[in-house]
Amino acid sequence: MMDNCLFCKIASGNIAVEKVYEDDQVVAFNDIDPQAPVHILIIPRKHIACISDITPDDNELIGHIHQVAVLLAAKFNIAEDGFRLVNNCNDNGGQAVYHLHYHLLGGRKMNWPPG
Ligand code: 5GP
Ligand code: ZN
Repeated sequence: MMDNCLFCKIASGNIAVEKVYEDDQVVAFNDIDPQAPVHILIIPRKHIACISDITPDDNELIGHIHQVAVLLAAKFNIAEDGFRLVNNCNDNGGQAVYHLHYHLLGGRKMNWPPG
């Protein structure tokens, strides 16, 4: 846990959020500024600043995050219509919070290319 990291504080429960899922490895919660009818953030409990920092030791964790995304897409009824799972990395990628997270977005048609 990093003392100055917002998502570490959310994962540990030091900051309260509207959680939609949690287990021993990950926490998922509604984004504070939703960009779609469903906008969930899925984060590992482990502090990893950016996807560039993952190692082969994280392979199971990254796979698990994908499994949770699929589970939540079904739970929130966006699986059939379709959804987007997004990771923003570093400045050009649009990353604002430097604790690895995936955006699960759905409930509307997504644009391509992204803005
Ligand atoms: P990024 O731009 O780093 O990929 O995404 C960060 C996301 O975290 C943004 O969508 C932003 O709205 C969300 N966010 C930032 N602070 C908070 C917070 O305190 N609570 C919640 N629920 N979401 C947050
Ligand atoms: Zn963190």
